[in-house]
Amino acid sequence: MTLDWDALLNDCVDFTQRLIQTPSMTYEEAPLAELVAAELQKLNFDQVWIDEVGNVNGRIRGTDPSLGALVLNTHLDHVDPGERSLWSVPPYSGTIVDDRIVGRGACDIKGPLAVQVYSMAALLRAGIRPRRDVVFSGVVEEEVGGGGAIHWVENLDYPVDLVVLGEPSDNNIALGHRGIAQMWVQFNGRSVHASVPEKGINPNFALAQFLVDLTTAKSELSAHELLGPTSVTPTIVEVDTKSANVTPAWTRVCLDFRTASESHRSLRAFVRRVAGDQPLILEDAICSTPTPFPDDDKMIFGFYTPPTDDKVQRAQALIGAGMGREAELSRYEFATDGRHFVPYNLTIIGYGPSEESQAHVVDEYIAIPKMMESLRGHVELIKNY
Ligand SMILES: [Zn+2]
Repeated sequence: MTLDWDALLNDCVDFTQRLIQTPSMTYEEAPLAELVAAELQKLNFDQVWIDEVGNVNGRIRGTDPSLGALVLNTHLDHVDPGERSLWSVPPYSGTIVDDRIVGRGACDIKGPLAVQVYSMAALLRAGIRPRRDVVFSGVVEEEVGGGGAIHWVENLDYPVDLVVLGEPSDNNIALGHRGIAQMWVQFNGRSVHASVPEKGINPNFALAQFLVDLTTAKSELSAHELLGPTSVTPTIVEVDTKSANVTPAWTRVCLDFRTASESHRSLRAFVRRVAGDQPLILEDAICSTPTPFPDDDKMIFGFYTPPTDDKVQRAQALIGAGMGREAELSRYEFATDGRHFVPYNLTIIGYGPSEESQAHVVDEYIAIPKMMESLRGHVELIKNY
C-alpha cells in the first residue's frame, strides 16, 4: 500500500499535542471528546458518535459484515498533574523535547489514543478497506473505576472479535494483569483505661505481631506464570477509639492484595495461617466500600488471555510483521478497563506505544519513534486481522 509514513507520524504527533493541550481530568472529558470526534470526522471515518455518558466512538467499515469488529480502546481522562513547578515544561503544553512529547497524558493515554486514530486513518488515506469493521472507542472515567467502559460494554450492540487496549505496553502485547482484593483484618481486645493496661487486652500487639509475620509469610502466596507473583501490603490502620487514654476494643488493618492465582478462599486461609490462633474477623472485598469478603475458589485476576489463544497468535504475527520485529508477550502491573470486559467474554489484548513507567509521573512522555513503530504495527493489524 502506498502511504506517506512520515506525514502520518507528523499528523499523529500534532494530534497528540492538541490532545495534551486540552485538559480532560475525570468528569471533565467533554471538550476532549468533542476534539476527538471532530478529528474522526475530518479523517473521514464512516461513523462518529458520542454516547450518553460521553464516550467517543468512530467506525470504519470492513468488507465482510459477517465478521466481529476489531475494537481499539483507550480512555479520555488523565490524573492531576500535581505541583506544576516540578515539571520541566508546562504539563498541558505537549512540548517536544528531543524525541519525546512531554505532558500530562502523553503516555497515559493521549499518545496511544492518537496512534489508534491515525492507524485507522492510514487505511482510509491509502484507500484500503479492512476485512472487518474497526471501531475506535475512547471512554470516560477510566481513572476512577471505569464507568465509561462499563457503560460501553453493557450497551454493546455489535459483535466484537477482539479488543485492543492502548494502555502502555512498550509495543509489546500485554495479555493481562492481576486483580485487586482488599480485606479488613480485625483484631478484638478488651478496652480499659490506658493507666491500667494489664486489666484489658490491647489488640494493637496482636496486629503488630501479625504484620511482622506477614512480611515473611507473603512469599508463600502463589505466582502466575504470566501475570507474576501475588503481592500483599497493609494500607489503612484503624482503631475504634479517638481517645488517646483508652486502649482500643478493636484494631483493624486493610490488606491490599494484587493477585493472579489466588482465590478469595485461599486468601482467607492465608490470613488465618499468618494470624495463628489470634481470633480474627475478616470482612470486605474492597476496604472503602463495605461488602462481604467472598468465599469462593475463583481465581482473582483483572483479565487474562492465554498466549495459546488463536486470536493472540494472529494479532502477534500481524503486529510483528508490521513493526519488523517480534512483538513479545507481556503483562501490565497496573489495572485497566480490560477487567470490565471479562464478564462479557470479550477477548482482550494490550498493545500501546508508551511505557508503563511513564504513567502518572511528573514529566510524563511518549517517545516519537515508538509511535512510528506502533503505527506500523497497528496498520498491519487493522488491515489484515
Ligand atoms: Zn490509562
